[in-house]
Amino acid sequence: MIKSFHPPLRTLMGPGPSDVHPRVLSAMARPTIGHLDPAFIGMMDEIKHLLQYALRTENPLTLPVSAPGSAGMEACFVNLVEPGDKIIVCQNGVFGGRMKENVERFGGVALMVEDAWGTAVSVDKVRHIMQQHDDIKALAFVHAETSTGVCSDARALCRLARDYGCLSIVDAVTSLGGIELDVDQWGIDALYSGTQKCLSAPPGISPVTFSERALIKISQRQTRVPSWFLDKNLVMGYWGGGAKRAYHHTAPVNALYGLHEALVMLQDEGLEQAWQRHALHHRALRDGLEAMGLQMAVAADVRLPQLNSVTIPEGIDDPRLRNALLERYGLEIGAGLGVLAGKVWRIGLMGSSCTQRHVMLCLDALENTLL
Ligand code: PLP
Repeated sequence: MIKSFHPPLRTLMGPGPSDVHPRVLSAMARPTIGHLDPAFIGMMDEIKHLLQYALRTENPLTLPVSAPGSAGMEACFVNLVEPGDKIIVCQNGVFGGRMKENVERFGGVALMVEDAWGTAVSVDKVRHIMQQHDDIKALAFVHAETSTGVCSDARALCRLARDYGCLSIVDAVTSLGGIELDVDQWGIDALYSGTQKCLSAPPGISPVTFSERALIKISQRQTRVPSWFLDKNLVMGYWGGGAKRAYHHTAPVNALYGLHEALVMLQDEGLEQAWQRHALHHRALRDGLEAMGLQMAVAADVRLPQLNSVTIPEGIDDPRLRNALLERYGLEIGAGLGVLAGKVWRIGLMGSSCTQRHVMLCLDALENTLL
């Protein structure tokens, strides 16, 4: 007979998911109610307001897609890209490549701006390509590249998109809650994020937001949105607000209790305080790693505090070391991805996994295991 599953106790310091706070776990254990129950709908409205706070936006179309970050990504592209549309896609790691896939699958033409993995998106290269075309529909880029630990200049890139009359589509899966992100001030038109990184809610939900400009583009589409589930017009019947809610899909009720609690915790801490906490513990981790003789893999000016890429020293057996951390300390750190596989570790300090205790545990475990 198969028995109940009890996961081992872990400390999550990889690229996500991060440790889910006990308050969030206990919120998720509350009784399931109907997804059209007035009490649940009241909670949905609160989630929307809390997301607007976390994203710094007044966009009415701000909601959590009932599926992971990849679905939020697809929601942005499937609604905004039409066949033949030229979209500038910046790639400096794994996730820019997925944006390209999305553009092409929806019939768009991806004009690629490539930068080396471990460096930021070059604003100059983007400007150059914008100057060469007068019919660009959108600029898409990843704010915080989780595959490398690099932060790109979202503010400057979105300003460029505005200057050249195109929309901006931003991947903020790893940035939301960990570093400065200001949807309205920066003029972001479409953004998707994830719940399992710096929000420390359970994985499987993707906050998205669309600006007025993005909604105009969607309303002027010549072709039908080629996805039923992610068509924003249909989702809005359920999430749109007002007394009348139409059934669209059965929301992940308990997971949304968890997201609500995680967002309440962020609100209680304060958004800027959360950014400062990430910066503070990042500095402590960096100092400890460097004191141990390890080197950060990303230049200081574009380093993400919540995702620390560390160069694996010569002669270290990477899978063996990570296994030892897991077995001896219950500690998960991330492996390198793609071209960085075997070259770096990715140490996450995200949300509830960004505390002094996490920094001390990680340094102690690494030091003892590297000996
Ligand atoms: N974009 C970035 C930058 C990510 O880090 C991730 C996940 O790690 C995704 C998109 C995809 O999110 P999910 O795994 O929730 O589908």
